[in-house]
Amino acid sequence: MRTPVLAERMSRVKESPSSRVADRVRAFQAAGRKVLPLTIGEPDFDTPDHVKDAAIKAIREGETKYTSANGTPALQKSIISRLERKTGQSYGTGEICLGGGAKQLIFLAFVATLDEGDEVIVPAPYWVSYPDMVTVNGGRPVVVDTTAADGYKLTPGGLRAALGDRTKWVVLNTPNNPTGAVYSEEELRQLADVLRAHPHVSLLCDEIYDEINFGADPVPSAVTVAPDLRDRIFLVNGVSKAYAMTGWRIGYGAGAAPLCAAIGTLQSQSSSCPSSVSQAAAVAALDGGREFIDRTVRIYRERRDLLVSGLDAIEGLRPSVPRGGFYVWTDASALTGAVTPSGSTITSDADFAGHLLETSGVVVITGDAYGCPGHFRASFALDSDTIREAVSGLAHSVSLLRHP
Ligand code: PMP
Repeated sequence: MRTPVLAERMSRVKESPSSRVADRVRAFQAAGRKVLPLTIGEPDFDTPDHVKDAAIKAIREGETKYTSANGTPALQKSIISRLERKTGQSYGTGEICLGGGAKQLIFLAFVATLDEGDEVIVPAPYWVSYPDMVTVNGGRPVVVDTTAADGYKLTPGGLRAALGDRTKWVVLNTPNNPTGAVYSEEELRQLADVLRAHPHVSLLCDEIYDEINFGADPVPSAVTVAPDLRDRIFLVNGVSKAYAMTGWRIGYGAGAAPLCAAIGTLQSQSSSCPSSVSQAAAVAALDGGREFIDRTVRIYRERRDLLVSGLDAIEGLRPSVPRGGFYVWTDASALTGAVTPSGSTITSDADFAGHLLETSGVVVITGDAYGCPGHFRASFALDSDTIREAVSGLAHSVSLLRHP
C-alpha cells in the first residue's frame, strides 16, 4: 500500500529538539533509569485557581462555541489593556490577533508574509523553532551569531551587516530563550535606528517571557522606544509562561492591521479559532492582577541563583546570569577535547550530552539546537532539591573527564 507522498517542504522542517529530548527522557525513565531533566521548557507551577475557575464557569455557561478567529471581545479587551500597560500604545481590535500559543502566531506570521527566498534575520543563540518555521514557509534564515561579550544580543553593526534587499523580518526575543538576555531601551533604540533606514524590513518581537523578569524595571518593548515604527513591529506574547498556562494554548500578537487580518484569515481557514474555554481563562489571567507573577518570579529568582552558583563552581563551565526567563545558558566549550572514563573524546555536543546522561542521568539541551555549539541550556523550572541534585550530578560527570 502506498502512503501519501510528503510535500517537498517537509524536507525543510524537523521535529523540535525539545520534543525529541523529552522523548529520550521518557525512554530512559521507562527503562528504569533515574533522570534529572534540566530540559523543562514550561513553568512547573499549576495554573492559578482563579484562572481555572473562570474556565469552568465558561464551560458551565455555554461559552463552548466557535469564536471570531481573532478572539472574543472580552479577550481582545484584556489583550489591548495589557498591551497598553506594557507599551503605552493603544492598539485597536484590528491590530491584534490570536493564536493557539505564541508559537502558532509566529508560524502564521511567516506563512502570511514570506515569499520564496525572503530572508529572516535570526540572532543566535535562537529559540529552536524560528529557523524551521522560516524554511518550511519558503524563507531563508540568516543567522547572526552574537557573543558573550555583547551579552548574547544583536548589535547594530551585526544587524546592519545582515540586512539585504530580501530581508523581510528581524526576530528579537527578549527575554531570550535560551540565554536570558534582555534588550535595554537603549539597545532597542539603536536597533530601531538601523531599521529606520530600511523600510522594507519588519521586526518580530517575541516577548513571551517578559513577565519572568529579574531586573528592577519592566522588560522594555521595541514599540515603546520606537513608536514611529509601530506598524513595522509585530509583538508576540501569550499566557503560557507568565501564568503557567502552556497547555491552554493562547498567544496573541499586535501589529499592522493588514498583517493581523491576514493571520486571522489563515486562522479562520485552519483552526477557525483558538479554544473558547481557554480564551475565557486567558481573560482571567490577563485581568487578574500580579500576585501569581510576583510570587512565582520570587521563587524563580531563588532557583536561578542556586543553579547559577552551582554551575559556576564546576570547573570548565561558565554560566551566564539570566535577566529573564527560566534558563541558564552555560559555556562548556572548555570541555571539548576532554576524555571520558571509557576513553572516548568529547568532540561534539552530542558526546557531551551522552556523557552526562550515562554518568549522572542529567539531561540538558545542548547548544547546537540553538545554533551555538559548545554550550548548553539548563532550566530552573524545577524544585530546588532537583536543581541541587542535578548540579551534584553535573559536577560528578565533569569531574570524571580528563584533559589529555
Ligand atoms: N517563543 C519562545 C522564545 C518560547 O520559548 C516559546 C515556548 N517554548 C514560545 C515562543 C511559544 O510559547 P506558546 O506556548 O505561547 O506557544
